Amino acid sequence: MEAPRPAETHGPTPLCDELERGPWPSHVTELKKTRYHLQMYEESLSRRQTQWGFGGYVSLPGVAAGFAIRASARPEITKGANFVRVLPPAGNFYSAAMLSKVCDIADRYAYGLLHLHSTGGNIEILGIPTEQLLEVVSALNAQGLDVGSTGDAYRNTVECVGPARCDAALIDTLGIRDAWFRRFLDDVQFPRFPHKLKVKISGCPNDCTRAVQKSCIALIGVFRDAPKINGEQLAVWVGEGGDIAHVASMCPPRAMEWDGGRLTIDAEACTHCMYCINKCPAIRPGDDRGVAVLVGSKLRGKYGPLLGRVLVPFVPLTPPAYTELFDLLHRIDEVFDEHARRKERLGDFLFRIGIDEFSRLVGVEPSPHQMAEPRSNVFFHWAAGGPVGGEKEV
Ligand code: SF4
Ligand code: SF4
Repeated sequence: MEAPRPAETHGPTPLCDELERGPWPSHVTELKKTRYHLQMYEESLSRRQTQWGFGGYVSLPGVAAGFAIRASARPEITKGANFVRVLPPAGNFYSAAMLSKVCDIADRYAYGLLHLHSTGGNIEILGIPTEQLLEVVSALNAQGLDVGSTGDAYRNTVECVGPARCDAALIDTLGIRDAWFRRFLDDVQFPRFPHKLKVKISGCPNDCTRAVQKSCIALIGVFRDAPKINGEQLAVWVGEGGDIAHVASMCPPRAMEWDGGRLTIDAEACTHCMYCINKCPAIRPGDDRGVAVLVGSKLRGKYGPLLGRVLVPFVPLTPPAYTELFDLLHRIDEVFDEHARRKERLGDFLFRIGIDEFSRLVGVEPSPHQMAEPRSNVFFHWAAGGPVGGEKEV
């Protein structure tokens, strides 16, 4: 391997230097070890205004997605910076050897600086000269990695560690992500949508990936039956000081009852919130498991931050291809592709047309689970026959 390009010399950086003080690891210390233009950061701090300019995405022959550029407002320091987004393995599990290869590529072609991870869960290799972008992709391909996750395409998914490391996992988040990539890779690497589409996968309603806040399509592991109680384990836990009476008293819908010797859970009342499961090792999720599909959450865009809306409360999982789930996702992306306005996020599109019309377009039966919030007018009722299609009574 060729020697890394010589380090940039940095001018005086007194404000950045301040950020090296203290016992914790300093990002400035790390930046100084690389060819990153620290003067840009220093000038941004001293002027209280970032010195970086607009950002954008570029496509090169054979690589439609994966490159991003950041312009500079201070061309005398740097003319800008290119970076690539590397699609990580599911759950962001890397062997030390693989990560070391990525580091070698960053050293050889770029600043020698990795950003782990972008908010979209990508590895970013920063500071690649334009003429070497394609070489970097070839070097990554040689290590079994690929690039993507820019532009108006499906972005990299973000999934929690799931059953590889978490005792609460209801579904195989990593297997779903791998199968998702096999099915949708073309739409990750060849932008065709009105705007970007983000998918996050959480293994249970604890939602560690914040899918309900930050993903156009959220897949969240759920169970439909009652939590399981292991009586013997519960007795041991209580004997060791576990306060099951307190746990029962905190159950949001009051579905738990503890009579001092026996715990029961009302399966009809339980909302599967995970509270008791998180608190007590003797209570485990039920066995009737699947995925809830939510749509439309985001932080930015025309209508501001939006939380996800339930579209389908339960989709059974059918590994290894997960056909039923992914057919639904494909119907969602086709509706988005066909009906959303240019540069309209899925959440803004849904907000504009409403969940009824969105459900109709996707071909999903309306369901009470799709309610965004409980009604606030207590004098407004639906007649017998259910909340869907019933007669209005005022
Ligand atoms: S979302 Fe659930 S399964 Fe995934 S890491 Fe968090 S607690 Fe574990
Ligand atoms: S999962 Fe939540 S709603 Fe269900 S019994 Fe436990 S605490 Fe109550």
